[in-house]
Amino acid sequence: MNRSLNGHVDSFYAAQSGGLPVYDRLIDDRKTQVCIIGGGLAGLSCASELAARGFDVVLLEGNRLGWAASGRNGGFVSDGFAQGMSDVVARTGIETAKKLFKASVEGVEIVRSNIQTARRDDLIQGHGGLKLIRTADDSGLRKQLGDYRSFFDTERSYVSKNNLNRYINSNAYHAALYNENAFHIDPIEYCELMAHSTTKTGAALFENSKAHSIRKRRIGWEVECDGAYVRADHVVIATSGYGGVFAPITGSMVPVSTYVVASKPQGSKFDNVIDFTGTMADTRRAGDYFRVVGKGDDRRLIWGGRITTRRSEPKKLAHMLAKDISDVFPQLRGLEIEYAWSGLMGYTRHKMPLIGQFWPKTYKNLWTCTGFGGHGLNTTAMGGRIIGEALSKTSNRTNLFQSYRPVWTGGPIGRVVAQLSYWNMQRLDSNAELSP
Ligand SMILES: Cc1cc2nc3c(=O)[nH]c(=O)nc-3n(C[C@H](O)[C@H](O)[C@H](O)COP(=O)(O)OP(=O)(O)OC[C@H]3O[C@@H](n4cnc5c(N)ncnc54)[C@H](O)[C@@H]3O)c2cc1C
Repeated sequence: MNRSLNGHVDSFYAAQSGGLPVYDRLIDDRKTQVCIIGGGLAGLSCASELAARGFDVVLLEGNRLGWAASGRNGGFVSDGFAQGMSDVVARTGIETAKKLFKASVEGVEIVRSNIQTARRDDLIQGHGGLKLIRTADDSGLRKQLGDYRSFFDTERSYVSKNNLNRYINSNAYHAALYNENAFHIDPIEYCELMAHSTTKTGAALFENSKAHSIRKRRIGWEVECDGAYVRADHVVIATSGYGGVFAPITGSMVPVSTYVVASKPQGSKFDNVIDFTGTMADTRRAGDYFRVVGKGDDRRLIWGGRITTRRSEPKKLAHMLAKDISDVFPQLRGLEIEYAWSGLMGYTRHKMPLIGQFWPKTYKNLWTCTGFGGHGLNTTAMGGRIIGEALSKTSNRTNLFQSYRPVWTGGPIGRVVAQLSYWNMQRLDSNAELSP
């Protein structure tokens, strides 16, 4: 392995990493118990959990490990899913929803524990999280506060407008819920931590090794990868919004783009503007999320927002997000943006991940751990654990996800429909902010 930045997008994280280890390309045929396709955090978490349980694992990543959403995201680690818990309750009933929420909390703790076990506390860049509202009507927030307590056995504190001023100075926000268990991380370094610790437990990870097809054999599966073949008893699909190899799963995913920028280090600009070192996000359907990293004069703002089903990156991405920042914090007008990048999130129609074996009769031993949408740092860790338990037959927690099966998203037409619905959601958000 040599240190190199090759192949990663020019994000703040990749630039700061100072070069990431390069893993081999698959060139020879292999036989293994489990072949995982996709080397984001979902694939890496599955590899880590399976290798720790004694499975022989081969992971194929088409680009670099952590190259996609997993290495480009906002870095927020918090409980819950891309789908809101009230919708989960409506679909699964309260008892299953409680178990799902608990599993999502477990995902947060797995990430924390992986970092602590590796003695890499430096990857945690701040603690606590604020979920902010941009409307004066706080009834939704208060309902969530009650639900967290009574249904999900989790504490959140209500932060009134007056108290919010202690943390951030913006007229855009009216109140918040504070989550003391949330934290934020350097995502690309966390991917590398996962890759490094997983290879130590014996898994074989391959980069620049795109799986082109998978074929069911009399016993097990065959995965074709640029002329080399992996024969495996089990296959795990973890390809998310970046293509994929198995049509029923790829077709059940809408790839949705979102954007992130990192400012230049301009520490003093944040004094009396943002005095909070945790995560901040608003509750709009396509809201903003931001955090400050670094100390003193080296502080930078990392700001993410906007969603679209278009694949291309807008030319004036940095300019666009700088405007979003100054709309919320006019004091930060003129903040210089150093990095701007985008990433694709894999969304299912129900906005919940696909975890388990969905066609055990037709496609025996074909597993899925994908579709985490915009809330994947905790849930990929949780998904990996549940897949590890399922293959080692130590739990049947995949049953929790049986209400969330793959559903075809309608191909290109589905994408247009999704885009129209996002625009509609943005319009509803703006109307809600304008109403008294
Ligand atoms: C900009 C952005 C900000 C976000 N912010 C947050 C946040 O703050 N907190 C949070 O919890 N979540 C956040 N998310 C969501 C989170 O990053 C994702 O849910 C999570 O990383 C998904 O992990 P994954 O492994 O499923 O997918 P990915 O990380 O997308 O990985 C999928 C991998 O599969 C590979 N692949 C695809 N096809 C093949 C093939 N045929 N052969 C081999 N490899 C293949 C791809 O190259 C890719 O590396 C954000 C996402 C984005 C894009």
